Amino acid sequence: MSSPAGCLRSRSGGAMTRSTITSTENGVTRRVYVKTYGCQMNVYDSVRMADLLAPLGFSKAERPQDADLVILNTCHIREKASEKVYSELGLMRRLKMAKAERGARMIVAVTGCVAQAEGAEIMHRARCVDLVVGPQNYHRLPELVAKALRSGGDGIIETNFPAVPKFDFLPEAAAPEGVTAFLTIQEGCDKFCSFCVVPYTRGAEYSRPAMQVLAEARQLVRGGAREITLLGQNVNAYHGKGPDGRVWTLGELIRRLAELPGLARIRYTTSHPRDVDDDLVAAHREVPQLMPFLHLPVQSGSDRVLAVMNRRYTTSEYRRTVERLRSARSDLALSTDLIVGHPGEKEEDFRDTLDLVGEIKFAQAFSFKYSPRPGTPAASATNQVPEQAKSERLAALQTLIVTQQREFNLSCIGRVLPVLFAKAGKHEGQIVGRSPYLQSVHITAARYRIGEIAPVRITAASTTSLSGAIAEAFAI
Ligand code: SAM
Ligand code: SF4
Repeated sequence: MSSPAGCLRSRSGGAMTRSTITSTENGVTRRVYVKTYGCQMNVYDSVRMADLLAPLGFSKAERPQDADLVILNTCHIREKASEKVYSELGLMRRLKMAKAERGARMIVAVTGCVAQAEGAEIMHRARCVDLVVGPQNYHRLPELVAKALRSGGDGIIETNFPAVPKFDFLPEAAAPEGVTAFLTIQEGCDKFCSFCVVPYTRGAEYSRPAMQVLAEARQLVRGGAREITLLGQNVNAYHGKGPDGRVWTLGELIRRLAELPGLARIRYTTSHPRDVDDDLVAAHREVPQLMPFLHLPVQSGSDRVLAVMNRRYTTSEYRRTVERLRSARSDLALSTDLIVGHPGEKEEDFRDTLDLVGEIKFAQAFSFKYSPRPGTPAASATNQVPEQAKSERLAALQTLIVTQQREFNLSCIGRVLPVLFAKAGKHEGQIVGRSPYLQSVHITAARYRIGEIAPVRITAASTTSLSGAIAEAFAI
């Protein structure tokens, strides 16, 4: 499947989510509209921006034309993702002018990784932008928005990497909108894969202290979260300071989170294959709340390409990691990320990728055409793969992925899976939940069951979802 998501589901340039908040300052009601591009880490950041702005009295706007403040929280991972921002800014310019004609003001802010990578360029290309704020500076939004409101429209750019991490300044997390929540525990990356902008846009690897993470998780659970997904660009490189002064691993953090009453499910993403340590493997064996579904990006099935990508593992090492995980948890299903057409990738390399995908039998996969990112080593390589070859390879890979995903879903028919009911379905009387493998599961049941986990006998499957009926009598 081609992903609208990249860093996680909605990983990249495709999917967008909107969140809105409301408030009043000096008796004046102001409204904010936030549009999120890219990965779950951006979704988390947008939620935290809302938490920061709420005390200023901002209220929710469903549409940008109704907002006093518009925030585009952007993604830079592939070219298409960043270009979308500029076309959206064209629309914002028109809305801002229309508002000005009515004597009203609209502040436009660009946050996220495009802001970090192209701060001055954004101001130059899109004159409607008042504020450019990098991913490590959004804790300063209240102050920067106030400054922008006071100023006559001089652009403000804030893209430094501060010495004190933004997490230390974030307010308590508000109650999540549903029964699932994201929690960023790690950010940035020191691995410098040839193709990737993350080390440049998010900065060096940083892990939040364990107590800070536990406090936020407790707050989310108190607000109704039954499932928490721990996030990080390399989440399993987590090495946060523990309350005992030691450095905690992700495995240790997961065990401690599993002790939180009410937290039924734990997930984490995105993992790097090199950082799957024995403790994490053991957590998969021993912690029932840890869901048996893991996103483990392999990127390529060719050792030659993996070396050029600077991934620092071979396909044999990747296979071995998968074996360790599967022997700890035999029902574990895997998803992955794959890039086709990295500079230097030949047809035989691509065939190796198809072979590996067939062998590992991923339950899900996100596949992308290599997209040159300015400043990364691969972008200046002279052996770029022609666009036509990239497109053909992507189409062939996606055909295989869709087949495997469908097979995996079909293999669930007849099984009884525990499903966390998360929201109302599109049809009357229907609710939708998630299986342990993150599949959407549709059932007919009363809405009051949202938030429950119940066994569901799966009766039908498609490439993208399952359906079934509650099977209370079955043990799970
Ligand atoms: N840290 C994770 C890892 O090492 O696998 C990946 C996180 S990255 C932010 C999300 C995904 O975007 C990657 O796994 C990769 O497949 C894809 N990606 C990153 N840079 C890309 C590029 N220049 N072109 C195409 N896809 C890219
Ligand atoms: Fe990007 Fe590689 Fe770091 Fe993942 S490990 S975030 S792909 S540089």
